[in-house]
Amino acid sequence: MSQEAPRGLLLVISSPSGAGKTTLARQLAEEFSREFGLRFSVSFTTRSPRPGEVEGRDYCFVSDARFDEMIAARQFAEWAVVHGHRYGTSIATIEQSLHEGTDCLFDIDFQGGHQIRRQWPDDSVLCFILPPSMEELERRLRRRATEAPEVIERRLAMACKELEHYGEYDYLVVNDDLSRAYDQLRSIYIAAHCARTRREAVAQALLAQAASRRPSVR
Ligand code: ADP
Ligand code: 5GP
Repeated sequence: MSQEAPRGLLLVISSPSGAGKTTLARQLAEEFSREFGLRFSVSFTTRSPRPGEVEGRDYCFVSDARFDEMIAARQFAEWAVVHGHRYGTSIATIEQSLHEGTDCLFDIDFQGGHQIRRQWPDDSVLCFILPPSMEELERRLRRRATEAPEVIERRLAMACKELEHYGEYDYLVVNDDLSRAYDQLRSIYIAAHCARTRREAVAQALLAQAASRRPSVR
């Protein structure tokens, strides 16, 4: 019987741009960093930093040439072109999580979610954040004002394509009221920890203890 610590859980959060996934993901990583060792997977990207973004915290910002080198060296678990830039998840981050038994949180698009699910079907939980309406999505993107108007238009145009992929996700959270959406996300995360497949070792250890204490009743 295996007494190994469970492997880390890979929690993927995706949504159309502006639905609130980064806000929710950051809050979750902050709350559960101690209890479950939850860490935010810092992606590599070829896009430029936005004002206020910090290298190594929000992204590792790299040149196109460096990204090419990383692809050639097979350093990405997945990568994709999103809104005209390349983004990728380091394979080292995932392996560290799985082996250490600490959880990892991914703020990545549906292409990345698909890749993670395909490679780690038993370790991944996929959650899609929905905006309450397309009007509100547009309002949030414009209010955030981190991109130029033409970039915002491109992101809005892409929203439909991203929404079409909701069916590949395990859970859907509507981010209307932020605190309610957060409650739902944290409940999904906690429930994922209680999945039978992740708790099997505990149940098996109890069965072994029980069997060694008394003969089983038939
Ligand atoms: P994403 O990572 O999905 O692009 P963000 O987390 O950056 O989205 O959120 C987009 C904008 O909407 C941010 O300015 C954020 O503060 C705001 N926001 C997030 N959730 C809500 C909410 N429930 N109600 C109102 N504004 C929100
Ligand atoms: P932003 O430029 O707004 O930070 O991110 C744009 C999109 O790229 C978002 O949908 C975000 O989830 C996605 N993204 C960020 N990092 C990665 C990654 O490593 N892989 C993939 N596939 N998508 C990513």
